Amino acid sequence: MSDTLFGKIINREIDADIIYEDDQALAFRDINPQAPTHFLVIPKKAIPKLSDADEGDQILLGYLLLVARRVAAQEGLEDYRLNINNGPGASQTIFHLHLHVLGGRSFSWPPG
Ligand code: AMP
Repeated sequence: MSDTLFGKIINREIDADIIYEDDQALAFRDINPQAPTHFLVIPKKAIPKLSDADEGDQILLGYLLLVARRVAAQEGLEDYRLNINNGPGASQTIFHLHLHVLGGRSFSWPPG
């Protein structure tokens, strides 16, 4: 298991506002929300970033999108934005793969 902050959340060594969990994935509210609803979906498998995933992760990566969809619906979101920061240059700060799901406001394009 990863020793990152998110690994510690999976292991319940750090508290988080967990809103979904199954054997493969976890979703919890972002501690510094950038929208009225902002949660993170993470795999329990410790993949540091998207570019570290490989062909063997195909089913897991698709599954994370289904979890994002399920939890977004659970949160009452119809329109929402998914974001993955891959690497420091893309503002990734925690090196355990995570999908940001943001909703409850409108979003502009292109993103900053
Ligand atoms: P990123 O910049 O893509 O690596 O995103 C990391 C996200 O984790 C940020 O949006 C942080 O606000 C969020 N975060 C950091 N620590 C925690 C925590 N203890 N619980 C929930 N979210 C956190």
